[in-house]
Amino acid sequence: MSTAMRSAKPIKGATGDWEIVIGLEIHAQVNSWSKLFSGASTEFGGAENSHVSLVDAAMPGMLPVINEECVRQAVRSGLGLNARINRRSVFDRKNYFYPDLPQGYQISQFKSPIVGEGEVIVDVAPGEQITVGIERLHLEQDAGKSIHDQSATMSHVDLNRSGVALMEIVSKPDLRSGDEAKAYVSKLRSILRYLGTCDGDMEKGNLRADVNVSVRRPGAELGTRCEIKNVNSIRFIGQAIDVEARRQIGIIEDGGKIDQETRLYDPGRNETRSMRSKEEAHDYRYFPDPDLLPLEFDEAYVEALKRELPELPDARKARFISEYGLSAYDADVLVAERESAEFFEAVARGRDAKMAANWVINELFGRLNREDKEISASPVSAQQLGAIVELIETGAISGKIAKDLFEIVWNEGRDADPKVIVETRGMTQLTDTGAIEAAVAAVITANPDKVEQAKEKPAMLGWFVGQVMKQTGGKANPQAVNALLKARLGVD
Ligand code: ADP
Ligand code: MG
Repeated sequence: MSTAMRSAKPIKGATGDWEIVIGLEIHAQVNSWSKLFSGASTEFGGAENSHVSLVDAAMPGMLPVINEECVRQAVRSGLGLNARINRRSVFDRKNYFYPDLPQGYQISQFKSPIVGEGEVIVDVAPGEQITVGIERLHLEQDAGKSIHDQSATMSHVDLNRSGVALMEIVSKPDLRSGDEAKAYVSKLRSILRYLGTCDGDMEKGNLRADVNVSVRRPGAELGTRCEIKNVNSIRFIGQAIDVEARRQIGIIEDGGKIDQETRLYDPGRNETRSMRSKEEAHDYRYFPDPDLLPLEFDEAYVEALKRELPELPDARKARFISEYGLSAYDADVLVAERESAEFFEAVARGRDAKMAANWVINELFGRLNREDKEISASPVSAQQLGAIVELIETGAISGKIAKDLFEIVWNEGRDADPKVIVETRGMTQLTDTGAIEAAVAAVITANPDKVEQAKEKPAMLGWFVGQVMKQTGGKANPQAVNALLKARLGVD
């Protein structure tokens, strides 16, 4: 880790510098068709209480049965986080009363989680990399949902979510700014999506963060933290950290002290508000769930899952740098999403890879962003973009014409063949020197005064190039135009 290069700056308070300390607890919904201890569907958006088995509704005498797929996904996630996999873990009951928790307890893992310590490498900014420690990853059940806006006199409870498997991923207090926390969550989300263990959809609440924030004098002992519950967008995580740190600094500098409490972030007012203090904290009376055996597996099970892991973002980034000669920054942008990385490789294979990266990042991603489209919905396919890159590479079209061509393909969609368009619409680059010479001669004859000026001011060359390009409808080969003009004007 290059902490020396860390860009996180201390915050200036009225009485001196302060450092922010952040640790995150991420709840990530496990990708699985059925729930952690029942066969009910995990599908999002069904009619209220349509995905609820007798186990999820906590009917008397119902017994939980562990879903092997959820265990597999948790172990794979642990491997993706370079973490220790615990061959023996235990499910505990975490007791509390809440209307959307029919059992009266949540099944979770307290003392013995399925995954222990690990680490994640995070690129915060170009050239700035930090390593964030993972404390643990454990499996637990999600709760149901109370709905208060369906009736004037009653609250409704929807148990569709009750019993869905979550992975709680707890970081060490290793983060030092909102930007670091945002980059960490993005990286974690990227790893889980590569693994296919969580879809990372924050809008649906499938990945959400409890954000623990404290402040201290640089290098001092850890301060008292506040925990901001259930922040559901990466942007809000950054904003919540910034306002919460400011609030804490204000209190301490006014001679007060921070009460350890749970708070909520309100994005509308950009402030955090107290939910409950430590005194009101639950006593969860954890104990091992007597209905479930400890979870045990052998080394062969873990090894088999390890062998089948896909290539993850860090490995793919390193390969893009060595195999295609990309910059670390370009490689980072391309590997963040698996679909983008695969799209790039399909464009780059057998072609000029740096040119392919430029076209994917600048033209394609730029256009997709402006139209708020995902890469999976791109009107231009990897084959089509590959064909455009090839046309530039072979000199058939100029970079400028290629942008027009991209535009045409974008509008005409997947059936358009870039090579055919270039031929039928006469877009090929003029490499025929005779035609370019004629255009150069015409421009020179028409502008005797400018020709005189160019002798004093060689920078005028650019103006002449522009005129010739105009004459040829942008199709002249720019290198040829340059060379001919230099010879005719006697500049270099
Ligand atoms: P709990 O289970 O009560 O929430 P933990 O000790 O497991 O408490 O910590 C939860 C999270 O809080 C972890 O992500 C940890 O890194 C973070 N954390 C702990 N102490 C601090 C602190 N002083 N400032 C900021 N974050 C902290
Ligand atoms: Mg906590």
